[in-house]
Amino acid sequence: MAPTYDVIVLGLGGMGSAAVQHLAERGARVLGLERFGPAHAHGSSHGGSRITRQSYFEDPAYVPLLLRAYELYDRVERDSGREIALLCGGMMVGRPECRTVAGAVRSARQWGLPHEMLDAREIRRRFPTMHPHDDEVALYEARAGLLRPETTVAAHLQLAAQAGAELRFEEPVTGWEELAGGRGVRVHTAENSCTAGHLVICPGAWAPGLLADLGVPIRIERQVMYWFAPEGGTEPYLPRRQPVFVWEEADGVQVYGFPAIDGPSGGVKVAFFRKNGAPCTPDTIDRAVAPAEAEEMAAAMRRVTPTLPGTFLRAVTCMYSTTPDEHFVIGRHPAHPGTTTVACGFSGHGFKFAPVVGEIMADLALDGRTAHPIGLFDPHRFAAAATTEAAVGARGGAR
Ligand SMILES: Cc1cc2nc3c(=O)[nH]c(=O)nc-3n(C[C@H](O)[C@H](O)[C@H](O)COP(=O)(O)OP(=O)(O)OC[C@H]3O[C@@H](n4cnc5c(N)ncnc54)[C@H](O)[C@@H]3O)c2cc1C
Repeated sequence: MAPTYDVIVLGLGGMGSAAVQHLAERGARVLGLERFGPAHAHGSSHGGSRITRQSYFEDPAYVPLLLRAYELYDRVERDSGREIALLCGGMMVGRPECRTVAGAVRSARQWGLPHEMLDAREIRRRFPTMHPHDDEVALYEARAGLLRPETTVAAHLQLAAQAGAELRFEEPVTGWEELAGGRGVRVHTAENSCTAGHLVICPGAWAPGLLADLGVPIRIERQVMYWFAPEGGTEPYLPRRQPVFVWEEADGVQVYGFPAIDGPSGGVKVAFFRKNGAPCTPDTIDRAVAPAEAEEMAAAMRRVTPTLPGTFLRAVTCMYSTTPDEHFVIGRHPAHPGTTTVACGFSGHGFKFAPVVGEIMADLALDGRTAHPIGLFDPHRFAAAATTEAAVGARGGAR
């Protein structure tokens, strides 16, 4: 008997919601299965805002994907009638040689992206909330800004349903196996089991449990988002005056922040990028945030934007799924290449790519290949590293 669906998508968060949309829009018979409700706050795609930017300090190889993600975000907004992006400008701040600034400059130059370089005086003049040291500079990008993650997920799901996808919530996948002859997969949930020609897995922080045979060491980290009411009110932090920013300190610690988008009493959101990422699982994560954590955040912000950490309002936890090289994992599953495609390990910087990841998932699931450059995200890369290390070890080589 032919499988019931062409594709089943496990996980309807940032990436899976985009995958069901693209698959359904291409005419595939799609079933999406999600452990929680639509656009929930238990994974990695909540908290009201995510930074988006193009002069990507992590690696210039991300830039073509970002350009496509911007196009697709425009399309999702138009087609869903929802407002997702607020391109209020963005700054990468620090000493000229630090990764945040030098990496951003490298991507901007390599891809000819519009940007401005600001010295400390110019930063202070244009953005009076920000207090750089004299030796700090910024790459300013007018096309950077923020995305609203819950609205994005809701918009993807809306468009997927409109295109005919069947979406089931509160229905976690409990297991799956390949059908005889590699014709597809049988996927089990507590209530049901169903078959599909292909399985797309977008598990977020549930990756280590669900993808034990993937061969990729993914570390799940607890990360905290903080909201503060600035001293003197939110006016100087409104989006027409305040850009998003990532600011790297001399010790390499990065803090980042957003403009005030939640009204006069909503405060301003800030966070550490990667610092203090305590290992956790979705079951063990400590959702309570200690006063000492908020104090540490306030102290870090006081140095760069002194009026911002006026009064602490609230904090919310979230999870990063971090790979050893902090690059994503996207491709056919190495142990099940004929039937299964994975997208995981987004290492705390994946949201801005969600729609293009959805497009890539549809390419890989339906065609087995994609024209997008995803070499950096090959799931085999850690297995290859482990084999080389083992061979060097066996030969008694230096480690
Ligand atoms: C604090 C914080 C700040 C961030 N800031 C930025 C930023 O500024 N810019 C940026 O680009 N990125 C940012 N990121 C990263 C970005 O948000 C993530 O990379 C992205 O949201 C990951 O999406 P995902 O689909 O992989 O995970 P999720 O959105 O968590 O989706 C995974 C889904 O799988 C479901 N699931 C798991 N197991 C099962 C199962 N067995 N059956 C059914 N469903 C299942 C889960 O319920 C969940 O809905 C940030 C992340 C955090 C935590």
